[in-house]
Amino acid sequence: MDIKETFCPLCGKPSLEGEVCGQCRAEKTRWLECPPRVTTVICPTCGARKEAGGWSDLKVERDELARQLITRMVRLHPDLRDIRMTITLDEISVNRNRAECQVSGTLFGVPVEGSCATEVEWKREQCNRCSRISGSYYEGVVQVRATGRRPSPREVEETTRIACAVEASMMESGERLSFISRIEEHRDGIDITVGSQRLGSEIAAAISRDLGGRFTTHPKLVGEKAGRQIFRITYSLRLPRYSRGDVLIVGGRYMEVLGVDGRQLRCLDHSSGQVRSVPERQVERRAGHKGDAAAWMVAFRDADLLGVLDPSTGVTKEVKIPRGREICPGTAVRILKDGDRLVLLE
Ligand SMILES: [Zn+2]
Ligand SMILES: [Zn+2]
Repeated sequence: MDIKETFCPLCGKPSLEGEVCGQCRAEKTRWLECPPRVTTVICPTCGARKEAGGWSDLKVERDELARQLITRMVRLHPDLRDIRMTITLDEISVNRNRAECQVSGTLFGVPVEGSCATEVEWKREQCNRCSRISGSYYEGVVQVRATGRRPSPREVEETTRIACAVEASMMESGERLSFISRIEEHRDGIDITVGSQRLGSEIAAAISRDLGGRFTTHPKLVGEKAGRQIFRITYSLRLPRYSRGDVLIVGGRYMEVLGVDGRQLRCLDHSSGQVRSVPERQVERRAGHKGDAAAWMVAFRDADLLGVLDPSTGVTKEVKIPRGREICPGTAVRILKDGDRLVLLE
């Protein structure tokens, strides 16, 4: 068979059917282009980024974001294969980075290599959340109070922890405007000021789920915007008189509250180890909270009595062993002090 040899019209090297060869085509093609500048808007307060008119919280470092933006903006020839890009960043000023992109790949079967320079400009603009926070904007207040008493320091701490956890999970799911703008402790309880009504009702629901109690919702008209009425909502939450972990005296016995349902308490009777339902009105008084109990060492056992060492004084005291419990000397037990009396907890 007679194979007709053909040549590239530009360089004269052999080529298929007399076409311009890959080498010449690659040399003549602008296959790499960088925009002179990439601009992005960042909130100076929280670092959120404005994108397509909306704000989103950044999950990446600034350098990483710069690389992502540049990678997206660099224009490469569609026929370029085996692309490898290295981006080197230099900080020119707080608001500007110089970037050098080195790209290599294969174009029309020929290895190519090139580089281009660009700049990343960081514009600063306060985001919608930060401007709401600095403008003291809010949509509701969760007011936590307790029935017939003040919320305990433990409840105040728990309430704060729950509120912050709900805020964090809503932020995580992209609800940027669901922020807590203030948590204030008052003489009679705690107020949590929230940036969105959804956050308010989620916090109130989570607290009552965890600590018991109920809440009611009280909207108040505060104005109008673009024909829409603007409400602020007070979520009024009342913690139950007794809460989980409280140690109460019922019928002369110590009981620990396991749960509260309205005015009915689910209690663990520490002397019998049984769980009972107790109406709130049968409670004689509150002896303390199981969180206030301390670990005491058991020094000896004598029939149904234990000799236990007070960790604060080193003095040995005696306490009766609840029925059905096996406790050995040398172990530690949880003991709550109720005045002079000792309550041995589970
Ligand atoms: Zn050629
Ligand atoms: Zn911000």
